[in-house]
Amino acid sequence: MLSFWETTQLTRFDLVVIGGGLVGLSTAIHYRKDNPEARIAILERGVFPSGASTKNAGFLCFGSIDELSDHLEEMTQEELLTLVERRYRGGLRLRELLGDQRIGYEPCGGYELHTHQLDHTVIERFNDMLRPLFAENVYQDASHEIQSNGFSSDRVTTLIRNQFEGVIHTGKMIRAYQEMALEHGIMTFTQTECHQYYEKEDAVDVEITHLGERMTLSTQKLALCTNAFTSRWLPKEDITPGRGLVFVTKPRKGVDLRGCFHYNSGYNYFRSVEGRLLLGGGRHLDKETESTTDPGINQHIYNALVRDMHEMISPDEALDVDQVWSGVMAFGTTKEPIVKKVSDRIALGARLGGMGVALGTEVGFDVAALLTT
Ligand SMILES: Cc1cc2nc3c(=O)[nH]c(=O)nc-3n(C[C@H](O)[C@H](O)[C@H](O)COP(=O)(O)OP(=O)(O)OC[C@H]3O[C@@H](n4cnc5c(N)ncnc54)[C@H](O)[C@@H]3O)c2cc1C
Repeated sequence: MLSFWETTQLTRFDLVVIGGGLVGLSTAIHYRKDNPEARIAILERGVFPSGASTKNAGFLCFGSIDELSDHLEEMTQEELLTLVERRYRGGLRLRELLGDQRIGYEPCGGYELHTHQLDHTVIERFNDMLRPLFAENVYQDASHEIQSNGFSSDRVTTLIRNQFEGVIHTGKMIRAYQEMALEHGIMTFTQTECHQYYEKEDAVDVEITHLGERMTLSTQKLALCTNAFTSRWLPKEDITPGRGLVFVTKPRKGVDLRGCFHYNSGYNYFRSVEGRLLLGGGRHLDKETESTTDPGINQHIYNALVRDMHEMISPDEALDVDQVWSGVMAFGTTKEPIVKKVSDRIALGARLGGMGVALGTEVGFDVAALLTT
């Protein structure tokens, strides 16, 4: 039973955002900039964002050569350049919004490990392709760093460095985002699940449950920022969930890697975090099972990652896994995120694939702009 005060002040909004991941946070914050008086609420069903934004590896990337080569099988060179630019610009927008120190940004460069003989002319080809965006060479051969990084020189034949990639600290980034939302007077309701919304002539009704209590909120505008969970509202959108697995080891005594490292066309990735090794990916090994929104550890993938760690990444230092987790991404038949109006009052920002750290702030900016005009 709601009071008069609750009905008039706490359940009516100008903007409700469903999903408290980084797209939802970015949407709310950017909407505030053009709508200083607006009442804004974010609804998040988890205690923390419980999709991908607190589960990821913190790579601020736009693509290794193998990854971009794979993209070129599905898109034109022009489309690829647009996508790379969007990822890179998204990373810059994230850094500009929250500040490098608050998100633990390190401009350490990205590295791609090759385990087969590489035709080195590919480096030049991709540098030429990306020159209109970066005005200088993006990639260079860094194979002389294979040994100093402690990798198996039997397994790793070539290392290619991308000077424009870096890492952030995912936990710090989400905290900084949440603090900024608070500073901007944005209310966040956690453990609050939205069940359905109903668009009326003068508003949108949003049905929620918070700790077993059901109620209806009313809003002028609604942003759907539920990424892999979007089919609940929009089953016809081209969105397939993709679970990803990550682990960190106990603190290591040997090499402290500097860089964000990828292999298997970006399906696998690793880096150092606070003196530990973080390793993840491998979804390509069992895509069917991993096309799910359920959390869980795929033992086959986990075993393959542990094997790579022992045999290729750290053959000379025995490392023990300390913590394993999973998160859920959203994929589709194309690599572009979906940013669009669903109706006059409702907009969608979703399907960020494995590049949402780079793309998420930009997608939120775009969703806010769609709802403001
Ligand atoms: C293991 C892993 C590693 C990754 N590594 C990287 C990386 O290194 N670099 C990179 O760029 N990207 C990476 N990504 C991808 C990136 O994290 C995502 O693309 C990005 O976080 C997506 O943000 P989002 O806000 O769209 O989605 P999410 O973070 O999934 O947010 C959606 C939110 O909606 C909430 N929600 C869903 N349904 C409801 C409902 N009915 N009511 C209320 N709330 C609801 C969910 O709980 C969730 O918190 C990784 C992802 C994973 C899983």
